Amino acid sequence: MNQIRHDWTKEEILNIYHQPMMELLFEAAKVHRQHHDPNVVQVSSLLSIKTGGCSEDCAYCPQAARYHTGVEGHGLMSIEQVKEKANQAKAIGASRVCMGAAWRNVKDGPEFDQVLEMVRTINKMDMEVCCTLGMVTERQAERLAEAGLYAYNHNLDSSEEYYKEIISTRAFQDRLDTIENVRKTNITVCSGGIIGMGEKVEDRAGMLLALSRLNPHPESVPINTLVAVPGTPLENEQSVESWELIRMIATTRIVMPETQVRLSAGRTSLNPEAQALCFFAGANSIFAGEKLLTTPNPDLNEDMKLFTSLNIHPQKPFIKKSQPETVEAEDSQIEALGEKPRWTRPGHIIERNEKAKIRK
Ligand code: SF4
Repeated sequence: MNQIRHDWTKEEILNIYHQPMMELLFEAAKVHRQHHDPNVVQVSSLLSIKTGGCSEDCAYCPQAARYHTGVEGHGLMSIEQVKEKANQAKAIGASRVCMGAAWRNVKDGPEFDQVLEMVRTINKMDMEVCCTLGMVTERQAERLAEAGLYAYNHNLDSSEEYYKEIISTRAFQDRLDTIENVRKTNITVCSGGIIGMGEKVEDRAGMLLALSRLNPHPESVPINTLVAVPGTPLENEQSVESWELIRMIATTRIVMPETQVRLSAGRTSLNPEAQALCFFAGANSIFAGEKLLTTPNPDLNEDMKLFTSLNIHPQKPFIKKSQPETVEAEDSQIEALGEKPRWTRPGHIIERNEKAKIRK
């Protein structure tokens, strides 16, 4: 059994990444088999509960209010709408529902209370619930845990060095702080990033280094490839070759053996053979459904056809960790307000973000 390490160096990670492909695949597949059933893949359904109008400037994101991407925004969904979507996701074999809201950070108040109720509702449907709501304070994380949240997603996106080229409205440390706040509860951590944003391979290694330094490692690491959306500053980025994604997945698997490695955005550009190689290299989680928040995703029937061809089975819920208990709002012991968030606003200007604003 491979040792779980938190002391990887960037050089070691780069050496893994640059191995001859056959050596890399063989090593990753060996590690994968030691820690996971290679014929089981977790299926999550991603649901945008509040779309567009975000104040942040993430250069890849069509939901940032400052870019003109044609994304149709909508306010917070109702609990009934979310329940219906969760039922549909369950029917297609999803064991987890991930709810995303285009917020910089969570604000206490009626909208957050509504999200907490959504969490309670889905947890009671015996599905794992994940949220991605932006930055959260320790107290907000506690409230989410009390509601029955299973996982919280907050991506590092890239290396600390390259992060500054992608986002100027909050700092890399803010991301780490939110992950730390989540870690203080019994909620599991989902954190990964995006390749194909113009970063160097060293930045991909740097991101994996930062994730591997977290102790424990995140329970899930999504590896996304950029979907270059017209109107965003990254609209003209060249797409990455599937080999690069396969290398990234295999390296993630070796560096964080127990983590669920999620093949995320950008899957539409992969043919079934490339997806199968990703599973061989250690990916054991996907998002299902026609959309990933606002960008396209493979058709579910195609996913199920691939699962049948490869004899892969969807993972059942609560295999890795038991189902959290739900505390009803009226029984909560946690007061909503009273904590001052320490988020920064670095004020760093990204040249290409500025250009995007001027162009429009
Ligand atoms: S914080 Fe989230 S929703 Fe807002 S711009 Fe960044 S990625 Fe998009």
